[in-house]
Amino acid sequence: MIKDNYGKCAKCPIKPQTRTCMVNDGVGPIYCSTKNYPDALVKADEKYQEKKYSEFAKQASIQEYEGYESVPDKPGVFLPKKPRIVEIYEFCKKMGYKRLGLAFCYGLKDEAVIVEQILCDHGFEVVSVICKVGGKDKTTIGLSQNNKICPESDSHESMCNPIGQAEVLNAEKTEFNIVLGLCVGHDSLFFKNSEAMCTVLAVKDRATGHNPLMPIYTSRSYYEYIK
Ligand code: SF4
Repeated sequence: MIKDNYGKCAKCPIKPQTRTCMVNDGVGPIYCSTKNYPDALVKADEKYQEKKYSEFAKQASIQEYEGYESVPDKPGVFLPKKPRIVEIYEFCKKMGYKRLGLAFCYGLKDEAVIVEQILCDHGFEVVSVICKVGGKDKTTIGLSQNNKICPESDSHESMCNPIGQAEVLNAEKTEFNIVLGLCVGHDSLFFKNSEAMCTVLAVKDRATGHNPLMPIYTSRSYYEYIK
């Protein structure tokens, strides 16, 4: 059964300067995730010692640190330095990866061409695979004709095949997989079935040009209806 003091970090009222998760000897509320999950956090500590995570975690944090630049005469104020695509190829170089997977959505096929080229220009071998790989009709997974985007036509409509994308990249033994624009749920299936670690360059958000935080930023005005 779920505890009544389960984690609610998003509601935390403690100032960052005194939070137990931010400073030594800090404090937390009754529902504090740092205070209430000692066993889970010990388990996490143990995992960071495992070979498969230790170097990865270290390099990810170095990449994070390198993403900021101090502002002269403004202590504690930092400028962001790099877009995510740069962070991704820099991180891959730090990890010594040579062979990358690019799992992309048909809706972002033009962007995939550019991303693949950028990664190749940086010396990587890139295996790219589209969401429609396999070309199976949507009825294969139990959808009716009415569940198709164009139901009026009786024609074939290829299903998104994220497990197929993952299996192609597994077969090619890619060392790290980059997700570009997979749909909600399709991305989940990809992550679960990818043997290599993954990162996301962009998520699918058709209505916002793949900027899912836009409705969040404007949820007190134009996007109030989402609440
Ligand atoms: S871990 Fe505790 S102190 Fe940190 S944000 Fe969550 S509730 Fe607040």
